[in-house]
Amino acid sequence: MKTIIEPFKIKSVEPIRFTSEEERRSILAEAHFNPFLVKADDVLIDLLTDSGTSAMSAKQWAGIMEGDESYAGAKSFFRFERTVKELTGMSFVIPTHQGRAAEKILFSIIGGKGKFIPNNTHFDTTRANVEFSGAEAVDFMTEEGRHPEVEADFKGNMDIAALESFIRDKGAANIPACFITVTNNSGGGQPVSMANIRDTKAMLSRYGIPLFLDACRFAENAYFIKLREPGYADRSPKEIAQEMFSYADGVTMSAKKDAIVNMGGFLALNDESIAAQARTLLIITEGFPTYGGLAGRDLEAIAQGLEEVLDEHYLKYRIRSVAYLGDKLTAAGVPILRPPGGHAVYIDAKRFLPHVPPNEYPGQSVVCDLYVRGGIRSVEIGSVMFGKYATDGSLISPPLELVRLAIPRRVYTQSHIDYVVEVVIDSFKHRERLRGYAITFEAPALRHFTAHFRRLS
Ligand SMILES: *Cc1c(COP(=O)(O)O)cnc(C)c1O
Repeated sequence: MKTIIEPFKIKSVEPIRFTSEEERRSILAEAHFNPFLVKADDVLIDLLTDSGTSAMSAKQWAGIMEGDESYAGAKSFFRFERTVKELTGMSFVIPTHQGRAAEKILFSIIGGKGKFIPNNTHFDTTRANVEFSGAEAVDFMTEEGRHPEVEADFKGNMDIAALESFIRDKGAANIPACFITVTNNSGGGQPVSMANIRDTKAMLSRYGIPLFLDACRFAENAYFIKLREPGYADRSPKEIAQEMFSYADGVTMSAKKDAIVNMGGFLALNDESIAAQARTLLIITEGFPTYGGLAGRDLEAIAQGLEEVLDEHYLKYRIRSVAYLGDKLTAAGVPILRPPGGHAVYIDAKRFLPHVPPNEYPGQSVVCDLYVRGGIRSVEIGSVMFGKYATDGSLISPPLELVRLAIPRRVYTQSHIDYVVEVVIDSFKHRERLRGYAITFEAPALRHFTAHFRRLS
C-alpha cells in the first residue's frame, strides 16, 4: 500500500514561533502549570482541540468574499439551508453561532424539571445545557466503550437494552428526546454503528420518543461505518451520512468540527411546532432566522465545508492520520485508548504514570511534560476536568485519567505528527522522573480552564 498523502497543497502558511526547552519551562511556570493559560504564540504544535481550529480551503475563503450580508433573506442563507437539508433531510434549519447555542435553544423548549435526556455520552456543553434547563442528562455507553484497552469497532454505541429499561422505569412521557453523539467525543472519539443508530430509533419509535443526533463529527463517523460495518464498503460517505440522518428527527451541530470552519453551528429538525418556538428564541438570543448569530460569509463557508468534509480522499487522510499517530505510540509501548478515535488520540495516563495517584493528577503531569519537552499543547481529561470533592474534602476521581491529543483538520502535516510521536515517546522513556501536581487555585465550576498548579517534589 502506498503512503496516504495529504489530499491538498498548501497555498497560505502561518509561521510557528520556536522556543527552547528552557524558555518553555519558565513560560509554563508563569502559566501556573496550566496550558490553557499559555499564550498560543508560545506553542509549537497545538493539539488542545479540533474545535474551530481547522484550516479552511481556498473555496471556503472565496465563499467568505462572496457572503451575502443582507439582514434578511441573504443568498448565503439559502445555500446553507439547501446544503443542510440535502444532507440531513430535515425540514427546518436554524443557524446558530455555535453548537451550544443550538443546544441552549432546544433544551429551553423540550427540557425542564422532571424530564430526562438520554445520550450515548453527553458532551460537556450538552450536559450543561440539559441540566441548566432543569432536566437530567443520562449516559448509556455500551460496556466495551468503558475499557480503554479493548479493541472494538464501535465503542461509541448506545447501550439500547439499558436505555429501554430506563424508559420503562421513568416513563416515555418524561423523555422528550433521546440523543446519539457521533462520533462519541467524550467516549474517545469512537464511532457509532449504523445498526446501533437504526436499532435505537426502532426501539424509541415504540415509545414515541424522537431521536436527535449530536452530529458534530458525522462525516468521521460515516467513514468509520464505511471501513468497519458490513454492507457499507461500496457506499459513498455522503450516502452513509444521509442514511444516519434518515433515522433522526433532529440534529444539533457544531460547525467548528466537521463543517471545517472556525465558528458556526445549527439546529435542524422535522417538528414544525418546536421549530417555530426555536425561531422565536433565536430572534431573542442569536439573530434573525436567516443568519442566527452568524455573518452571511460564515454560512457560505459552512455550506462549502459540509461538502468538502464528505470527500473520500479527505476522510481517508483524516482517519488514517489520526490512526497513524495512535499506532506509532502503541508500537512504542505508550498506553493509549484503543483503537484511536476519529479526531484525537487519548493517552492513558494511569498506565503511563502508575506511580502518580489520581489525586496528584497524572494526566496534568503528562500534559506539562509534553509542553516543556516539545512545545506540544494537549489537554487533561481526568481528575482535573471531572474530579469532584467528597464531604470530607477527598477527591472523587472519574474512571479514566486521559490526555487528549486532538488533531485540527488540515493544519498539520505528517512531519509535524512524526515530531509529536518522538516527543511523546521521549516523555514515556523518562516517565519515572515525572511527578504529580497539586491544585493551588480553582474556580467553582469548569476548574480545568483556570486552575493553578504546583509541582510536587
Ligand atoms: C463541540 C461539541 C459541542 C458543542 O459545540 P460548540 O460549537 O463548541 O458550542 C457539542 N457536542 C459535541 C459532541 C461537541 O464535540
